[in-house]
Amino acid sequence: MGNPVGDRAIVLGGSMAGLLAARALADAYTEVLIVDRDELIGVTTARRGVPQGRHVHGLLARGQQILEEWFPGFTAGTTAAGIPTGDLGELRWYFNGRRLQPASTGLICVSAARPVLESHVRAHVDAVPNITFVEQCDIVGLVTTEDNGRVTGVRVHRQAEGSVEETLNADLVVDATGRGSRTPVWLEELGYARPDEDRIKINLSYTTRHYRLPDESILNGDLSINPVSTPTHPRGAFFSRIEDGRCVLSLTGVLGESAPTDPEGFLDWTRSLPVPDVYDVIKDAEPLDDPVSFRYPASQRRHYERLTRFPEHFLVLGDAACSFNPVYGQGMTVAALESLVLRDHLRQGIVPDALRFFKDISKVIDVPWEMSASGDLGFPEVEGTRSMKVKMGNAYMAKLHAAATKDGRLTRTFMRVAGLVDPPQALMSPRTMFRVFRNSKLEPLDTPQAPETPATDVDTPKAA
Ligand SMILES: Cc1cc2nc3c(=O)[nH]c(=O)nc-3n(C[C@H](O)[C@H](O)[C@H](O)COP(=O)(O)OP(=O)(O)OC[C@H]3O[C@@H](n4cnc5c(N)ncnc54)[C@H](O)[C@@H]3O)c2cc1C
Repeated sequence: MGNPVGDRAIVLGGSMAGLLAARALADAYTEVLIVDRDELIGVTTARRGVPQGRHVHGLLARGQQILEEWFPGFTAGTTAAGIPTGDLGELRWYFNGRRLQPASTGLICVSAARPVLESHVRAHVDAVPNITFVEQCDIVGLVTTEDNGRVTGVRVHRQAEGSVEETLNADLVVDATGRGSRTPVWLEELGYARPDEDRIKINLSYTTRHYRLPDESILNGDLSINPVSTPTHPRGAFFSRIEDGRCVLSLTGVLGESAPTDPEGFLDWTRSLPVPDVYDVIKDAEPLDDPVSFRYPASQRRHYERLTRFPEHFLVLGDAACSFNPVYGQGMTVAALESLVLRDHLRQGIVPDALRFFKDISKVIDVPWEMSASGDLGFPEVEGTRSMKVKMGNAYMAKLHAAATKDGRLTRTFMRVAGLVDPPQALMSPRTMFRVFRNSKLEPLDTPQAPETPATDVDTPKAA
């Protein structure tokens, strides 16, 4: 480190966004503290503060690249620890009951349970000498200068018996407390405006169960099977082989529909997917737990970049700024991209200017937000304005998915864009458009009819 930007930075929240922000801050501050309400070090199972951790989490290709950039040898380490990897384009992807033509993309899919992936990132962060974890510590509020113009620390309450509220002073505070972030409320209390919020109500559910397969050869070497939910086939699933010879299956329902959590209902719902592959794999597998559900009401974007006043020495990132419909797998990768924005701001050698920082992360958020919001608006029941761009984009994507069932080069192009490696314009190059229109006419498909399965209430609401 050259001249430090400050003595101490505090990161609120030690999940993916907080860990990666801390890594960026460690190059610029003498000391970085990560404060979280949960026990973190050594934890490899789902924890209270990240309840979504029980459900399938795919790390997009760009996210894997950034982890490798922050922590050289990251992927070799996960592989050595028994986490399977594969080529993103060679997974079994199904859209509308048809498999995309497998294609080698060179993009790596690291297939770990979410808490295990986080534990690997955390171990790398813990190895950075000037980063300290403050675990089992509730964040209560901000401390500011008398005129509320600048944040100078955080009020916290450790969970250890007999603890009393204390103040941790900081030269910079970064809020990475996730979707339930209190920053909008804190801003109001301090006399600032709350950010505008966009919400796309998808009313999504994930229902998840883990398995051990009696014989993995049933997968034909494939790492994962993903019949993706679409407007014509709204029931979806993500099935992945993960570490320790285990597999995880998340069933996804949209617009209020949810797979049941009783074992028979869960299996029946799996049978109703547009392709039989997932059912065939799990029907004789050994279940390792009971199904659990999670409800995700709406994608939520807080437009901090539109504010004109914001306390100095205070930033917000990760799900606290934007929480994406999880089926697109974007949240962790956007958090990783934002850590690079933070690094670039810190490289200027001064405390990041919050409003400029928010403008820069909003550029990172724009593309994935537009991709997921447009996809959701493809469901006619989802509320929202459908611009001509959205309508044409969705019509084109349906053709592209159809054409990619015959043309692996299109699978490759699509995976690079969906993986946030290439910009969406790559889907519209003349060569790609030619391939799409040449290959998108398909013979009708005999799709298995989904048997009627009653929608059930989910039983594990997100603690936001
Ligand atoms: C069902 C589901 C599936 C998902 N699948 C994917 C996927 O496939 N790929 C992907 O990239 N993303 C996925 N996501 C999104 C992903 O989980 C998040 O984007 C990612 O965890 C980054 O979030 P974060 O670090 O900003 O916040 P979070 O992960 O929500 O973490 C917030 C942290 O702050 C702590 N905290 C909060 N409040 C306090 C407090 N008052 N005091 C102390 N500590 C506090 C919590 O303990 C927690 O550690 C999925 C999300 C859901 C809901």
